[in-house]
Amino acid sequence: MSYKNYPMVSRVVFGRGSFNQLDDIIASKRLNIKAPFIFLVDDVFKGNPLISSRIPLAYDDQIMYISAKEEPKTSQVDELVEQIILSYKDRPSGIIGIGGGTILDLAKAVAIMLTNKGEARDYQGWDLVKTPAIYHVGIPTISGTGAEVSRTTVLTGPEKKLGINSDYTPFDQVILDPELTKNVPKDQWFYTGMDCYIHCIESLNGTFLNAFSQSYGEKAYDLCKAIFMEDSLSEEESQDKLMMASWHGGMSIAYSQVGVAHAMSYGLSYLLGTKHGIGNCIVFDHLEEFYPDGVKLFRAMKKKHNIQLPQGICENLHDDEFDTMIDVALSLVPLWENAIGKNWQQIITREKLKSLYQKM
Ligand code: NAD
Ligand code: ZN
Repeated sequence: MSYKNYPMVSRVVFGRGSFNQLDDIIASKRLNIKAPFIFLVDDVFKGNPLISSRIPLAYDDQIMYISAKEEPKTSQVDELVEQIILSYKDRPSGIIGIGGGTILDLAKAVAIMLTNKGEARDYQGWDLVKTPAIYHVGIPTISGTGAEVSRTTVLTGPEKKLGINSDYTPFDQVILDPELTKNVPKDQWFYTGMDCYIHCIESLNGTFLNAFSQSYGEKAYDLCKAIFMEDSLSEEESQDKLMMASWHGGMSIAYSQVGVAHAMSYGLSYLLGTKHGIGNCIVFDHLEEFYPDGVKLFRAMKKKHNIQLPQGICENLHDDEFDTMIDVALSLVPLWENAIGKNWQQIITREKLKSLYQKM
């Protein structure tokens, strides 16, 4: 038995207003005045005083606004890298991602692909990256995915939706400033927050569970329960706690795995472009046979916040489309092994998955 030797984020700041320290933090990382910092920023913040006007630009630094309407693609990473290489003679001093999981994953992937040959699709998988990435910083503006702490960057490629999982993927620096999340729309807050909740349920109920994962998973679960079920928290407390729940949820799955909801949600996302947070919610709502208590509490949270999930998104799909989703879901072997155990193939048949997708 060999245990994972897991890399972590090297430095992290937490606190309301800590975004103001970005300038100080990156100053010492500037390689020279011709090696810029590139800020990849969610375009929802264009002209927004909370974020855009506070980005500390100097010399040739550049902000690239990026839409988070769609999940990141390998081709998008390649295009960004090419654009950066063509714009500057020197390799950038660093990449700074400011946004949700979509932008954080792009920042990680771009930082990796600036030092590694070929295309991003070549690195989808486990431990395929050979050269360290350039310095990269993650600044989440919405809480739940755990992308700020994870060892992966999830990308949709021409053939698969799969992360670049590597020791060079985690951020060198993360700034956790809960104030940045204050304008997240309510539905999105719920969907991305539930990503964290589902990480906990899948980790805590998986066969890979161990004391390391459990300690983080239980903490994140308790935080989620307080945030989504109790009325006593102020808005600020709730933002602070959700940011830490996301972190702990990410730490929990780092040393275990996610499960059924994630495997099936990847199928939806690959075929229909359903985004991760809402896709997980749509799937999880139908998983009471796998996670009875987790689904019960999920439904209570959904009710409390008056969230209406889309229904019937698989209603008019053809057999070959179901097959595509099922292929994607079944390819995620470690997730099934964690969720069900070594004999998962006896339980998770194509027919079983089809009947579940048909309900969604
Ligand atoms: P997101 O980044 O897709 O953003 C969702 C929406 O919220 C977007 O419209 C965005 O513009 C908006 N938004 C973000 N911050 C805002 C703010 N402060 N105010 C107003 N609007 C704001 O959402 P997400 O759920 O954080 O990320 C989903 C992505 O994360 C998926 O691509 C998924 O694959 C990835 N993911 C990665 C990991 C990982 O470990 N790398 C884990 C889970 C999910
Ligand atoms: Zn997730």
